[in-house]
Amino acid sequence: MVRQSVSIQIPQEYEDNEKNGLCRVCGKPREEFDKGRTKHCSEKCASKYQECFLYWNTFRDKIIKESSGCVKCGSKINLEADHIIPVAITDFVFDESNIQVLCKKCHAKKTKKDLLKIKNHRNKQQELRN
Ligand SMILES: [Zn+2]
Ligand SMILES: [Zn+2]
Repeated sequence: MVRQSVSIQIPQEYEDNEKNGLCRVCGKPREEFDKGRTKHCSEKCASKYQECFLYWNTFRDKIIKESSGCVKCGSKINLEADHIIPVAITDFVFDESNIQVLCKKCHAKKTKKDLLKIKNHRNKQQELRN
């Protein structure tokens, strides 16, 4: 039997946002944070992050356990759970219909595409604000 190995991580978008000094959850720039907040823009995002942090691992393990392998290439090793619509764009973080199982390789490819999508999404929001 092939053992499924899973890297422990919260959604990649959250880490990327944090690295860029943005709200981990919604990606808002720091200037727009509520007063006194450093990592999240608001109480809402802070609790969403907490929730995510606590439940993500369990949730992800369940999805991977029930899957039959990477949806792209069929691999059964190095499986990771992926948000079909990136977390930065959707609220359906724990919606099973927004999760698919990918192997590490396929996941890395998709993450690259997602980053572009997120960028476009932000640009659009920016335009709406102006
Ligand atoms: Zn936020
Ligand atoms: Zn794959």
